[in-house]
Amino acid sequence: MSSRYRDLRRPVRGSVHQLVVVLGDQLDAGSEALARADRAQDAVLMMEVADEATHVPSHRQRTVLFLSAMRHFAANLSDEGWRVRYVPLDDPENTQTFTGEVERAVGALRPKRLLIVRPGEHRVLASVDDWQKKTRLAIEVLEDRHFLTELDAFEEWRSERERPVLGQFYRAQRRRLNVLLTDKRAPVGGAWNFDSSNRKRFSKAPELPAPRRFDPDEVTHQVARLVERRFPSAPGRSESFGWPVTRAQSLEALSDFISDRLACFGPYQDAMWTDEPFLYHSLLSPALNLKLLDPREVVNAMIEAFEEDRAPIQSVEGFVRQVIGWREFIRGIYWSEGDGYADRNGLDQHGRLPDFYWNGETDMECMRQSLNQVLEHGYGHHIQRLMITGNFALISGVHPRAVSDWYLGMYVDAVDWVTLPNALGMVMHADGGVVGTKPYAASGQYVKRMSNYCAGCRYDPSKRSGPDACPMTVFYWDFIDRTKQTFRGNPRMRLPLTHLERMSRDERKAVRRSADSLRGDFDIGDAG
Ligand code: SF4
Repeated sequence: MSSRYRDLRRPVRGSVHQLVVVLGDQLDAGSEALARADRAQDAVLMMEVADEATHVPSHRQRTVLFLSAMRHFAANLSDEGWRVRYVPLDDPENTQTFTGEVERAVGALRPKRLLIVRPGEHRVLASVDDWQKKTRLAIEVLEDRHFLTELDAFEEWRSERERPVLGQFYRAQRRRLNVLLTDKRAPVGGAWNFDSSNRKRFSKAPELPAPRRFDPDEVTHQVARLVERRFPSAPGRSESFGWPVTRAQSLEALSDFISDRLACFGPYQDAMWTDEPFLYHSLLSPALNLKLLDPREVVNAMIEAFEEDRAPIQSVEGFVRQVIGWREFIRGIYWSEGDGYADRNGLDQHGRLPDFYWNGETDMECMRQSLNQVLEHGYGHHIQRLMITGNFALISGVHPRAVSDWYLGMYVDAVDWVTLPNALGMVMHADGGVVGTKPYAASGQYVKRMSNYCAGCRYDPSKRSGPDACPMTVFYWDFIDRTKQTFRGNPRMRLPLTHLERMSRDERKAVRRSADSLRGDFDIGDAG
């Protein structure tokens, strides 16, 4: 593999009609851009640029994953007869920006036009406009057929209703794509979702199957060394790298999940346990978001497992919902809301992101576990992202942009189209309720119920003020108090608001004092 990578440094020879630009999260051999190109007269441009690893601080494993997967993909294209202009990060002539590299490639290869699949980020799409101005070439931005929903179709669906509701979108997707429906077009299993059977917790340490991990090959080792040299202060650690970097490995990871973990995925999808970073989760989001896996094949494999009695409906439906519902909905919202979405701050929160998000050093056991796992693997499962690291940031009053930037840089599967609506909308409720009808705020009691973290913690999850009060509980009640006017008319917030009203004035003052003191200790500053 390493020899094939070195071959890619050789310049592309001969005239080039069209230049196909393939970005790091577009590793789809069946993409519309490659389908429209002709390997006899066109060429492919792939670029490793420092800009992409530094515009937000990027976890070492995230950068290694993108670069290694790109190099493997380029080698495969080359093997299949494509001429590939591959610009490595350490090429002395690399300008380290997409625009600079496109200009250099156009200067060298003189193509008549450029083809690119729609990038997954407003910032990069804007830079494509820049390429057009600088190169004066026609650039065709093509629909990303990896996804199941065309953006125009999402926009039309959205325009027909007062507000976009994920549950409604998901049902429409099930019907449109004919997924898990009976002959009479009713949902298989008698319900559209089985979340009520999916809230199991572990009563003792679970015996878990080890997920398939992949030893880094020479290409990944080379990239890891390069990333260490080039970005010495990047967050996270790279030693435990085991992510799939090729399509073949991604398919292996898919079949490993189905055979070993899918059956228990549904029931235990919200559970957490000390020192268990992966539990029954799929670990497929990096391969899906780099487009090494196609969502259709993933969904079909899940359904096949259900039909062959290898997994129960609550696991299969729960996973399928993430792929055809949540993932497509989030992407639709990202493009539909436009590039101003990143600046929303609907709850007017302005706190600083505490240092422990970068070094994991905190005495809150739930945060220490979840953050160290991110530093170690560039990974957290959805409930840790939403209800631990996200919940803390939401209820303590951190600025939503600081949180969405951290989420974009720190998870190996992070691409802006998915991370921004997830972090800013779902986690931080900063979009005024576009993604979620209520904030996902929870106290330490929730953490105690769904994990064993509290058993090893110096704080008491039942206490909401005083020196050993749990910061999650303190900040939760402070958040409910701080935002009570905003959520007064929201029926989904009635329960905590009623509870708040029953608290005495002195109790509320004590909560506020504890919250202010904790915000000082954690250097968050003022929430609002
Ligand atoms: Fe987290 Fe509070 Fe539980 Fe400690 S007591 S682990 S801070 S929820």
